[in-house]
Amino acid sequence: MSARLILLGAPGAGKGTQAVKLAERLGVPAISTGDIFRANIKGGTALGKLAQEYSSRGELVPDEVTDSMVRDRLAEPDAAQGFLLDGYPRNAAQVAALDATLTEAGAALDVALELTVDPEVVVPRLLKRAEIEGREDDTEPVIRRRLDVYAEETAPISGLYAARGLLVQVDGLGEVDQVTERLLAAIDSRI
Ligand code: AMP
Repeated sequence: MSARLILLGAPGAGKGTQAVKLAERLGVPAISTGDIFRANIKGGTALGKLAQEYSSRGELVPDEVTDSMVRDRLAEPDAAQGFLLDGYPRNAAQVAALDATLTEAGAALDVALELTVDPEVVVPRLLKRAEIEGREDDTEPVIRRRLDVYAEETAPISGLYAARGLLVQVDGLGEVDQVTERLLAAIDSRI
C-alpha cells in the first residue's frame, strides 16, 4: 500500500515509538529527522557537529540543512512507495519545503497525523526517558526550550494541514498498542 504520512505532536507525545510501529504495519520506512541527526552526531560527521550545536540547546537545526537532508532521504528507493515522517516538518518553512519536494516527485501527502497529549504529562515523560536513554537534550532546561520552540513554531503547522483537510488528531494517551490501533484506524479512514 502506498502511504505518505507525517506524524506531528509535542516532544514526548510518543511519536518515535508510534512511528516505528506504524511504519512496520504499513510497510513504509519511518524517517525520523531527530534519529538521522543523532546518528550523525554519534558518527562525528560535519552534519552531526552542526546539528549538535542546535539540538543540545533545544533549538531547531537550520531549515536549509534539514530540508536538503529530508529531500535526499525521500529520494531513496525505499521511500518511493511511501514513508512516515517523524519530527518533520517542524515549522511553516519546512512545510513549504516538503510541499516542493513532493510536488517535484509528483507525489502528495495522504494524511497528517497529530498525536495529542496533555502538556502536563510531557515533561515527566521526557525526564524519565533521559534516565533510560541518556539523551543529551533531555535535561530539564533543554526540555523547556524544546517545548517553547514546539509551541511557537511547530504547533501552528497542524492548522496548515487542517486547512487542507489532511489533519487527523489522535489521542496519544494510553497503552502503546492501543494508541497504535487508534492511529491505524485513523489512517484507514483516510487512505
Ligand atoms: P527529536 O528526536 O525529533 O525530538 O529531535 C531532536 C532534535 O533534533 C531537535 O530538538 C532539533 O534540534 C533537531 N531536529 C529534529 N528534527 C528537526 C527538524 N525537522 N528541524 C530542525 N531541527 C530538527
